[in-house]
Amino acid sequence: MSNDLLDDLYRELILDHYKQPRNNVTLPGANCAADGSNPLCGDQIQITLTLTDEKVEQIGFTGSGCAISQASASMMTEFVQGRSVIDALDGIAAFQTMMTTSAPTNAVGFDDIDALIGVSKFPARVKCASLGWKTLEQALSCLLYTSPSPRD
Ligand code: ZN
Repeated sequence: MSNDLLDDLYRELILDHYKQPRNNVTLPGANCAADGSNPLCGDQIQITLTLTDEKVEQIGFTGSGCAISQASASMMTEFVQGRSVIDALDGIAAFQTMMTTSAPTNAVGFDDIDALIGVSKFPARVKCASLGWKTLEQALSCLLYTSPSPRD
């Protein structure tokens, strides 16, 4: 596929996620949540999670801001839904690697997410694309505080 065609395909994917964000809800039964913002661009993301047995049973996000920030968060929720916390953390690391190296990740389930690779060439937009993933990392860290200790 030529680069132009690939660019068009990627642009379409990003716009599709922006216009019809997946998992665009606040989960009523969430047990973990986090808010993130990117003041440079005015992007906001709120994430709610239902975590059971260290697995992301459900994820929802709401937010406002530029197409890149909202599309990236939408793609992130599709990736994370139903995965283990370990896999979710691996996904966050893979995304960050893609943003710093501008190389495709080959990570399982990253098909749509690879559409954001072009963003890596624009440092200001990397903050937009990373916002959802950073907010996810924050939301997942609630496990550290809510997991019951066997000695308690
Ligand atoms: Zn932005």
